[in-house]
Amino acid sequence: MKKSLIFMLVILSVFMMSCGGGDKDAKPSRTFVTIGTGGVTGVYYPTGGAISKIVNKKFEEYNLKVTVESTGGSVFNVNAIMAGDLEFGIVQSDRQSQAYNGEAEWADAGKQDKLRAVFSIHPESVTILAAEDAGINSIMDLKGKTVNIGNPGSGNRGNAIDALENAGINWETDINAEGLKASEAAKMLQDNRIDAYFYTVGHPSGSFKEATAGRRKVKFVSITDIDGLLEKFSYYAKSEIPVEFYPNAQNTENVPTYGVKATLCTSSDVSDDVVYAVTKEVFENFEEFKTLHPAYSTLTKESMLDGLSAPIHDGAMKYFKEVGLK
Ligand code: GLU
Repeated sequence: MKKSLIFMLVILSVFMMSCGGGDKDAKPSRTFVTIGTGGVTGVYYPTGGAISKIVNKKFEEYNLKVTVESTGGSVFNVNAIMAGDLEFGIVQSDRQSQAYNGEAEWADAGKQDKLRAVFSIHPESVTILAAEDAGINSIMDLKGKTVNIGNPGSGNRGNAIDALENAGINWETDINAEGLKASEAAKMLQDNRIDAYFYTVGHPSGSFKEATAGRRKVKFVSITDIDGLLEKFSYYAKSEIPVEFYPNAQNTENVPTYGVKATLCTSSDVSDDVVYAVTKEVFENFEEFKTLHPAYSTLTKESMLDGLSAPIHDGAMKYFKEVGLK
């Protein structure tokens, strides 16, 4: 009697297990993807949040879950996508171009030919914020100062070096260059540990809100005389820092500089279905997407196809062709 009961229980549990397994097999498997962003006080991090919020609403339809990771920035994101550690990453348009063509940080590793563009997002400006008491009125005044140019995984470090070189400043010998993450820079400026910092970012950003809200008076510094730079690097374009976002900064007028675009990148190894779903949901919910950050105020669907130098991923291209954007 006892033996047959045990036998029945074993049979029953094997049956239940096989039912569970069979049920799982019947559904399309759940896919998790991660978007690499930047520091939490930048615009990439909330942008990853905006994309995931929109796409995850359709979880039932796609069985796709998008999560967001704070990272060191563009260069880190490209490398993590290429290593298969991230499916998506937000990457400056200049970094996308350099990686795909095997330039700058990728000069030794060569062409990152599996890199794919999905769409571009907000404009980003190469921005210098300096302490008022440091006497920095132009980029030339950075000579001899302690300046954060950014961590090596960031996109902005290269932009800072280009801007300094264009002004005839050797970043290794003429300034005391720091390699801090952008998320640390605002506090370091307020704590008198640095005189100024570079950040290539959309506006408004949490970093500059934080840095302009402290006791130490700060101001944005323009980057002008850049015709040669723009001629040399076609991915750069003139831009302006809208100071209305930072009422505590000492500037009264918008500050001229140059900039790039934030772009969403992926790898050719990521499936067309996943990239199609992400692209379609952002574009089909474009009006809602635009409300999720003030840096998106100037976006149009057409503008989100600008600044893409790596080939567009097949999944994104399928959507763009369906709606006549390509
Ligand atoms: N452009 C910066 C970088 O690539 C990140 C800006 C942000 O996080 O919004 O490192």
